[in-house]
Amino acid sequence: MRAALLREYHTRLELVDHPTPEITRPDEVLVRVGGAGVCATDLHAIEGLMEPAGVTLPRVLGHENAGWVEAAGELVTTVAAGDPVILYPPYSCGLCVPCRRGDDIHCVNHDFTGLSLDGGFADYVLVRERSVIKLPDALAPAEVAPHADAGLTAYHAVRRMAHLMKPGTTAVVIGIGGVGHIAVQLARELGSSRVVAVDTEGDRLALARELGADEAIPGGDGAPAAVRELTDGRGADVVFDFVGTDQTHAASTEMLARAGTFSVIGYGGNLPLTSMELVVDEKAVVANLVGSWTDLYELIQLHAAGRVTLKVETHPLDAINDVLDKLRDGGIIGRAVLVPG
Ligand SMILES: [Zn+2]
Ligand SMILES: [Zn+2]
Repeated sequence: MRAALLREYHTRLELVDHPTPEITRPDEVLVRVGGAGVCATDLHAIEGLMEPAGVTLPRVLGHENAGWVEAAGELVTTVAAGDPVILYPPYSCGLCVPCRRGDDIHCVNHDFTGLSLDGGFADYVLVRERSVIKLPDALAPAEVAPHADAGLTAYHAVRRMAHLMKPGTTAVVIGIGGVGHIAVQLARELGSSRVVAVDTEGDRLALARELGADEAIPGGDGAPAAVRELTDGRGADVVFDFVGTDQTHAASTEMLARAGTFSVIGYGGNLPLTSMELVVDEKAVVANLVGSWTDLYELIQLHAAGRVTLKVETHPLDAINDVLDKLRDGGIIGRAVLVPG
C-alpha cells in the first residue's frame, strides 16, 4: 500500500510503498482509509516533539482517521467488512482501573494510532476493535475524520465545562482553528452561555459567527478589555484556550471573571497565575487531554443529527507535504483531510 512515512525528524514525509498491515490478533480490525485529518500534532511529531507521546521512527503519521472495515479478526463482533467507521486514536485495554472508569485516555497500557503506532496517512490502518466506532450510514468517512481528534478534544473540553455554562454567563473560545471552530458549536449545543469567539484572523472570526458565536472579537492585547466591556467589567465565566501560547494564556487569565474557570487545551506556553490570584478570586484551571471513546461516540451522534458541522477541505494523500506546509503557514480554515485516491 502507499503510506506517508516520517523517516527522520525535520524532513518531509516520504511517500513509499509500505507493507499493508496484517491482522495478527483476533480483536484487530483492518480499515481502508477514507479520510485522515491533518493536525498541528503532526507538525509537532515532525519537529521531534512527540517522543513523550510514544513516537519512534520510522512512523506512518495520521491519527484522525475514518474509513471502511476491510477485514476483522475472528473475535470482532461490533463491526463487519464494509462498515463505515471512525477510529478513536488512543488505545485502551478495557481491563485497568482508568479504563473501567471510562477514562480511556489514562489507560495504563496506552498507545496512540498515528503516534506510537502507524496511522492513517496510508491506504490502510490496523487498530483494535475497542478503537472502532461504527458511523451512521449517512456520514461519509472523509467528512467526519477530523472528529477523531480535533472534534473529540473540543467535545471533551466543552462537555466538562457545560455545567458552568448557565444562562447569563459568558464563555470565550480563543483560537477558531481546526479544534476551536467545533468548540464554538459545542458551546452553543451543550451550554447556555453567551459565546464569544476570539481570533487574530478576520476570516476565522467570520467562520465563528457563521457557526453560531454571539460575538467575535480580534485576538491580541486588546481582547481582555473587549471581553470586560462585553460583560460590564465582570469578565468571562469560562475561557477555553485552544492556542496555548504565553500570549493567549495571559489574555485568558486577564479576561477571567471572579470564580471563573480557565480551560487549557492548546499548550506550549507558561501560565502567568499566582496561587494568591487563584485563591483570592477563587479561579480554577482545568487541563484537557483528547477525550474518551464515549465522548467521540456522542459527538458523532450530534454530527449525524445535524447539530454540529465540520469545515473540511480534502486533498489527495500524495499532497501531504504541501498540506503540512499550508497548515504550518496558517493557511487552512477548519481542517484539511487527506483522501487516498
Ligand atoms: Zn490531532
Ligand atoms: Zn486500560
